[in-house]
Amino acid sequence: MMNEKVHKLLNQQINKEFYSAYLYLDFSNYFKARGLDGFANWYLIQAQEERDHAMLFYQYLQNENQAVALDAIAKPDKVFTCDMDVLKAGLEHEEYVTSLINDIYAEAYEVKDFRTMQFLDWFVKEQGEEETNANDLITKMELFGSDPKSLYMLNQELGTRVYSAPSLVL
Ligand code: MG
Repeated sequence: MMNEKVHKLLNQQINKEFYSAYLYLDFSNYFKARGLDGFANWYLIQAQEERDHAMLFYQYLQNENQAVALDAIAKPDKVFTCDMDVLKAGLEHEEYVTSLINDIYAEAYEVKDFRTMQFLDWFVKEQGEEETNANDLITKMELFGSDPKSLYMLNQELGTRVYSAPSLVL
């Protein structure tokens, strides 16, 4: 039987990941309106990945014969005054998600729920990559964002990102 608190946190994470997808859709929409299709593409794919994360938590609970309760997804309500604001909000959000994953892991560790710890290992690594990607994007924007030609090329580069399904299979 799964520990009640671990169960609750895993169930909450479904909602947090769907919110992440919603947030990145909002970012994508911002860049689409700006005419930066490459940035819009990058965040659209980010949103697809977050939906996959949500489904992994959903599926894990089902596989473990644990109840799933879906909650309302919060409204992304950040107002951005410049492109860099969006990128920084992305990094901030990933750092927050990392703290959530760590919290679940700590709880699973506490009650010796080794199966959940093993499931979460993939997310621990994934969060490292998410933070790196968000940081890299900020660095590139700092370097090239103020020059229109360079921004055009960065936009082209981000437009080449393609979706691939998560490497974790349950
Ligand atoms: Mg995620």
